Amino acid sequence: MMLTSLSDLSVDLSALRYNFDQLRRLCAPGVKIMPVVKADAYGHGLLACARTLVTAGADYLGVGSLEEGLALRREGISCPILILLGILPVQATAAVAQDLEVVLYRRDVALAMEAAARAQHKKAKLHVKVDTGMGRLGLMPEEVLPFLEGLRHHPEVEVLGLVSHLAMADQEDKAYTYKQINEFASLLRAARLRGWPLPLSHIANSAALTEVKEAQFALVRPGIMLYGSPAAADRPAPVELKPVMSLKSQVIQLKRLPKGAVVSYGGTYVTPDRCDLAVVPVGYCNGYSRLLSNRGAMLIKGRRAPIRGRVCMNLTMVEVTHIKGVQEGEPVTLLGEDGGERLTAEELARWAETISYEIYCALGAANPRRYVGVE
Ligand SMILES: *Cc1c(COP(=O)(O)O)cnc(C)c1O
Repeated sequence: MMLTSLSDLSVDLSALRYNFDQLRRLCAPGVKIMPVVKADAYGHGLLACARTLVTAGADYLGVGSLEEGLALRREGISCPILILLGILPVQATAAVAQDLEVVLYRRDVALAMEAAARAQHKKAKLHVKVDTGMGRLGLMPEEVLPFLEGLRHHPEVEVLGLVSHLAMADQEDKAYTYKQINEFASLLRAARLRGWPLPLSHIANSAALTEVKEAQFALVRPGIMLYGSPAAADRPAPVELKPVMSLKSQVIQLKRLPKGAVVSYGGTYVTPDRCDLAVVPVGYCNGYSRLLSNRGAMLIKGRRAPIRGRVCMNLTMVEVTHIKGVQEGEPVTLLGEDGGERLTAEELARWAETISYEIYCALGAANPRRYVGVE
């Protein structure tokens, strides 16, 4: 395909749907699925992904912030939505008005939700977060029962479940994950004995959903695997997944450098020999990390063209000496597939010393998206 723009970031919604179906199949009977679409659906576009996932049968959506939840409601998404980061007390009125459920770990937020619910003649729907070993958001386990007790005589407050997050579910050794799950399960039992039914409790991310059946409580919360990447960078996903995001560009100049020539800022690459170089109009302003300098590669004519010199703000140079017949205007693949060769987000992440999650967020945030495979 001839590109009419300098770069093209595409999001394949049929691949997203395929990955959802793959994960859905792994859910035990009766377990609900909450695709996580926080951070603009990991850079893939909140609204388009949410619509696709709801059509595919998502029971819930997990967003990061109130703003993301409001954006979905504005566009007519009516399924249950949970705000994973929780809200600020000042945001309670809007959350209740739009029927957004909230992850809770602060009493002042509970009271603000209760007041908003009373004023609007509604219920405040809350999921109480417990830190079973992530060391991030949530009440410490011993704080949970007293916290729930403090909400007992607040009729507008409906605590739907306990929620926790796993720190190491993507590791092959699941000992720590089982420890967290056991802690979670015993808290849940203790709370139920005290009369809290907590019907919608959940702890599983993608890694746990696919590898730890004990992690499936009433609901599961997969993220990264919906977008086609394994949760663990060093192992393939245990189910077949299709890549959703790809990034293409084109050669805007081809040039031949003599031996001993500098390529890009700082002269970090000097040609050891005569060198055919292709200039590609994508750089770190497009979310293409500068850590890819002298490390990464792009695909041209189905072959790998290594990055030479530093990635610039909106240009990157790759060597094509070994690839015959490259022309100006030649398609370039930065993420995705060309002629049977593939660059995955995991590979880019390894070069850039990060994880696929950050590759997707960075590329998605910095480039206009084009949707394909729309139903
Ligand atoms: C991001 C997130 C998830 C999804 O995790 P993945 O590893 O992408 O599957 C689940 N739960 C919470 C609380 C999260 O923040």
